[in-house]
Formats: sequence, C-alpha cells, structure tokens
Amino acid sequence: MTAAIKRNSTAELQALDRQHLHPFTDNAELAKIGSRVIAKAEGTYLFDSDGNKMLDAFAGLWCVNIGYGRKSMAQVGYDQLLELPYYNTFFKTTHPPVAELTKLLVDMTPKQFNHVFYGLSGSDANDTIVRMVRTYWNLKKQPTKKTIISRWNGYHGSTMVAASLGGMNYMHALADLPLPGHAHIRQPYWYGDGGDMSPDEFGKVAAKALEDKILELGAENVAAFIGEPIQGAGGVIIPPATYWPEIQKICKKYDLLLIADEVICGFGRTGYMFASEYFNIEADFMTLAKGLTSGYMPLSAIMVADRVAEVLNSCGDFNHGFTYSGHPVSCAVAIENIRIIREEKLVERVHSETGPYLAKRLEEFRDHPLVGEVRSLGFVGAIELVKDKKARKTFEPIGQTGTICRDHCVKNGLIMRATRDTMLMSPPLMWTNAHIDEFMKLAKVALDATAKDVGVK
Ligand SMILES: *Cc1c(COP(=O)(O)O)cnc(C)c1O
Repeated sequence: MTAAIKRNSTAELQALDRQHLHPFTDNAELAKIGSRVIAKAEGTYLFDSDGNKMLDAFAGLWCVNIGYGRKSMAQVGYDQLLELPYYNTFFKTTHPPVAELTKLLVDMTPKQFNHVFYGLSGSDANDTIVRMVRTYWNLKKQPTKKTIISRWNGYHGSTMVAASLGGMNYMHALADLPLPGHAHIRQPYWYGDGGDMSPDEFGKVAAKALEDKILELGAENVAAFIGEPIQGAGGVIIPPATYWPEIQKICKKYDLLLIADEVICGFGRTGYMFASEYFNIEADFMTLAKGLTSGYMPLSAIMVADRVAEVLNSCGDFNHGFTYSGHPVSCAVAIENIRIIREEKLVERVHSETGPYLAKRLEEFRDHPLVGEVRSLGFVGAIELVKDKKARKTFEPIGQTGTICRDHCVKNGLIMRATRDTMLMSPPLMWTNAHIDEFMKLAKVALDATAKDVGVK
C-alpha cells in the first residue's frame, strides 16, 4: 500500500484553492476568507485540516447514507479499477457491474420500473428525462405536448435544463432561465403558506395549482409534471397527505407523464426504500443519484416505466448518452452500497427505530423561542426559525438568522445546512439513538446562541 500522504498546512491549502471557483459560493468573498478544508471522515464524523472533529448531520450533501470510511466500498472500487477501470456501454456493449446493478435496481424499485438509463449526476439524469419525455410525445404523434410543469422552490439540479425544471429564482436570475417549455406552480408548503387551512385542505389547494396551470396552457401543450416527493434543498418541505394523490389524479386526467425526483428521498432517506412507496406515487420516471452510491462515486440512474419504455424503444437508435454512462467502478460501488443498506437493515432501522426517535426528540425544540416548526420523515428533517412563533412571522431579511445558526453549529462541531432561516438535517442512515442524542445537545447550544444573537427570548 502507499505511504501516508504528506499534506499541506491549512493556510497552504487555502492559498492553493484560491483559483478554484466553487459551486453555490460567493467566490470573491471566499478568496478573501479562505475555504474550510475537510480532510478526513470516519463513520459520521468529519475532520478539518486542523484536526477539529464535527458531527455530520447532513450526510455530505444528502448522500452519504451508509456513512464514511467503509472499507468494503474501497475494496470493491479498487478491485474493479484493476479488473476493468473503464469501458463504455454504447453500441450494444455492456460489462458485469452495470448488468448486475440493472437487475438489482429493477428488482428493488416499484413494479412498473423495468428499464434503467445511467448518468453521472442527478442533474444530467433530469436533463436526460426531459429528452425522453420529448421523444415520447413525438413518437406518440402529439408533438405539441412539450411544456414541463414543476414547482417554485423545487430543486432538480444545475444544468440549463435541470435549473429550468427547478424553481430557484436565484439560479434563474443569473442566466435568463427558465428555458422555454418550462412552467412553475406553487409548492405544498403548509407551514409557510397554509394560513388557516388544515394541512389536508391545503394539500388539495396546492395540488389544484397543477390543474389550473394545465388549463391555462392547454393540456395539449403539457408533457409532464416533475416533483421531489419531499423538497430537499427548498427546505425539507413535506407535503400534506392529500397532495400527491391529487397530483397523481390530475396527471392521469390530462395525460401528463409523472416524474418523481427521488435523488434525495431514494435509498432509505425517509424510512422507505423510495418515498414513492410512502406517498403512493406511481410515476413514469424516477430519478436516482446521491444515495445510490452513498456519494462514494458519481452515478445516477433513471428508472423508466414500462409504458414509456415501450414507446421509446420504437424510435430506432436513442441518440443520447455519456462517455461514463454506467461507469463500471461507480456501478460496482453502487452494488456494494445497496448490499450494505440491506445487510444492516438501515431502511428498516430508520423506519421503525431511529427515525421515530429523531422525530420525538426534535419535538422538544417546539418549545424553543426561536423555533416555529419542526418536521421530519425518517432521516430528513427541518427546524424552522421564526421571529414570532404565534404569528408564524419570519425574520427580515430572511436568511440571516439561518446563517448565524449554521455558523454556531460549525463552531460547535455540528454540520447542518441552512435554507433561508430553516435548519436542515439529513444524517447518515447508520446513526444510532446515541448519535441523535449527541445531535440534540449540539443543536440546542447553537439554537440558544442564535436566539441570543438575534434578540429572541
Ligand atoms: C442534488 C439533487 C439533484 C442534482 O443532483 P446532482 O448530482 O447534484 O447533479 C437533483 N434533484 C434533487 C432532488 C437533488 O437533491
């Protein structure tokens, strides 16, 4: 094996990193203050380049479902690199890892999914789905069905098409998005927008926005609806129980394809292997990435329903693909990842033991002066910070309090993310109840310090 790697000091690394343009970062500011350097990880702990230890309550970026430092994952990757580091899957070719992963995914996903297309990221997968949707309606001789409807504040990735599907104003604004052929409707955000309605009433109202938009555009012009079963980056927005059944009904009524973006929800995040099972969503496409490899290697998979695949397979060559579609090392690592999830019963544990325990402990924060709402399903959760709990009044400008709280978390050795003023968590599925207790202690310190800073008592 190789000798220990000699590393540069933190200051040296920050200097070396100065020319690196980071994603979702104010790079001018970063050049002045220097990057945070994460040097190592083990289990659910991160270590920065100065040796500080932090509890990662975010699983990297919603993805390290099995936790860090799994030796068998490294071994499988190493073995595959020696055996066949690369070969393509174009032109009627395959290799063992991609064939075996395909069978696994077909067997474990909902029954209508018996076809898989591979990419490298959630973004390119959603981009590919849009191409498939267009191909589908062209082949069905309904070429006017082109517009795809999605939600404001949804997140579907960062390519031009994926960012157009997404409903992030701050992404659209920079590059004249969305592209033509995209339309957005309101999100099912009960705490923020539900007013006096019960969650169930509000769920139906939010879903009705889809029907209104279809009627506005004309059903003959609308191709599909895409949504995350639970919006992740938008602030862990868990729709009321009435929402998805209504969406499903509307898609059927107006002949829309339904796309479930399970990039975050898939592979156990919600205590179900896929959130489509929990919400009873019968989609035509399912986007998978993140938890598919637990982030150890880049890979995405698009599950295509039979009724769509039958049509797509009638077009002759499907002229689309990436050099690394079905990369053998990524596929081998995905197989091992799924094996670990199953062998350690991580989904079952989150479903019946650790997920309910986390939900119960998070409830304690409801009494905190700064906390308007807590919500979670399985191991995806949010703590929403407000200025006035009774009036559900947010801070102005929105976002500063969340940033203050996030900084207190980091100072304290806890990684959470802030969206607006909502603290988000998505821990590795291997957390035990003891990890949850540790999280609660650290989060409480950060919440108290934040309340003090912003003057909420
Ligand atoms: C992260 C994410 C994507 C984009 O995946 P990338 O691998 O970052 O391109 C798409 N959809 C959802 C729901 C995501 O959370």
